Amino acid sequence: MTWFAITAGALLGLAIGSFLNVVVWRVPRGDSVVSPPSACPACGRPVRPRDNVPVLSWVLLRGRCRDCGEPISRRYPLVEAGTAMLFALAVWWSGPDWSTPAYLLLASVAVALTLIDLDVHRLPDAIVLPAYPAAAVLLVLASWSPGGTSDWPALVRALLGGAAMFLVYFVLLLIYPRGMGLGDVKLAGLIGLFLGWAGWPALVVGWF
Ligand SMILES: [Zn+2]
Repeated sequence: MTWFAITAGALLGLAIGSFLNVVVWRVPRGDSVVSPPSACPACGRPVRPRDNVPVLSWVLLRGRCRDCGEPISRRYPLVEAGTAMLFALAVWWSGPDWSTPAYLLLASVAVALTLIDLDVHRLPDAIVLPAYPAAAVLLVLASWSPGGTSDWPALVRALLGGAAMFLVYFVLLLIYPRGMGLGDVKLAGLIGLFLGWAGWPALVVGWF
């Protein structure tokens, strides 16, 4: 069962990683992540479904557009493979159990924000803010653990961890505005939710 779940997690990670490539490219530009369909940035021709299979299509195309032959960045298959590894790790680490969806959300947000921060030095609200309600719902599910043993103290820790990290980073921003941006403060609150849920030791170590 575990190996089946880990494999399923990796396959889901490939698909989500493919979507995250779209998110990382379009969100900083203010474009929709659902339309129009993906096209080659060099020649503008739409990407065919068979050329849109994560990792495999890039390998079969030898990293070049089928229409114009321009190179396709190796970052795309690397992000897909990296997300697949993170998802497999998250499934293995969490059980899998009711906390697995929360860890998969965290992995997805982390991949998208890391790449966008590297590209344009921003942590867009369009990703960080919706992640709060999504994390809240999934951490309630993880704490509830329907059919299993509920762990409501974990949810209280999550709220305390999120509030504490948000407030401390907000104060740091007020004291030394040039050290970071408001985006960092908002991200700190989100990370605090997950660290608090995982436990006090995780909150302390993760905070450092
Ligand atoms: Zn092309």
